[in-house]
Amino acid sequence: MIVLKNNDFIERNEATIDMEDRGHQFGDGVYEVVRVYDGEAFLLQDHLDRLQYSLNEVEINYDVNQQGLSQLLQQLIEKNKINDGGIYLQITRGVAPRNHPYPEDTQPVLFAYPLQLSRPLKAQAQGITTILQKDFRWLRCDIKSLNLLGNVMTKQKASNANAGEAIFYRDENHVTEGSSTNVFIVKDDKLYTHPADNLILNGITRRYIFHLANQLNIPYEEKVFSLTDLKEADEVFITSTSAEVTPVVEIEGQKIANGQPGPISKKLLDAFFEYKNVGQLT
Ligand code: PMP
Repeated sequence: MIVLKNNDFIERNEATIDMEDRGHQFGDGVYEVVRVYDGEAFLLQDHLDRLQYSLNEVEINYDVNQQGLSQLLQQLIEKNKINDGGIYLQITRGVAPRNHPYPEDTQPVLFAYPLQLSRPLKAQAQGITTILQKDFRWLRCDIKSLNLLGNVMTKQKASNANAGEAIFYRDENHVTEGSSTNVFIVKDDKLYTHPADNLILNGITRRYIFHLANQLNIPYEEKVFSLTDLKEADEVFITSTSAEVTPVVEIEGQKIANGQPGPISKKLLDAFFEYKNVGQLT
């Protein structure tokens, strides 16, 4: 495996991380996961824009354009001959003696490498079961930060319950997102999902769903919904770079509608590759 470290391509076994890298000590860094379909990075510019947003919010001094990151990632895909899969990439603030405040003059450290990602065809065909979890994460979920312990603990809880995802809620009137996905409900042929604020990650797939909904003339609204809205929805589905569109058929043992993936979820999934030459999302 060839790995990108800063601007250099190196072998996987040469890729080492310093003990005092702040990503390692504080989770002081940001990341992205990008899908590769047919050898092409999907919605790459949108991922890079969000990466720049996360970097700016935590004041890591790295300019995605200036560094030519887009071209470097294309080279990474070619060098590893990634056809269908993904790229993981993270940028930390860099290496400094352990101390909480941002150190001056550290060089950010970037790593990017291929991920084996297969399409979740079985989950998409059958739908997944989910559990609920009170959202105990911090209030800057809009930053795609390396601090994923709340998400990891919650995904483990889902896994222990043999569920495919855990859905977070702040209180009973306020569902936010999944542990690694955004959540949509369908009610009376209209889509609803949480507004892009500090309580969720503004998923690239979430925004791609808006693009598909526009193409398919499906109305949608970014609006907070409740646990009751969720359980009484006509359809529920989750979205992410890895999950694409995956229907949810059960929440805490309770079936959504008839317990089968719904028609609008299917329609969006069928359209997923049809409208994919979007270039950049609006
Ligand atoms: N929310 C959270 C908490 C996530 O971790 C992810 C996936 N990284 C998403 C939503 C979906 O984002 P995207 O569609 O950009 O993969």
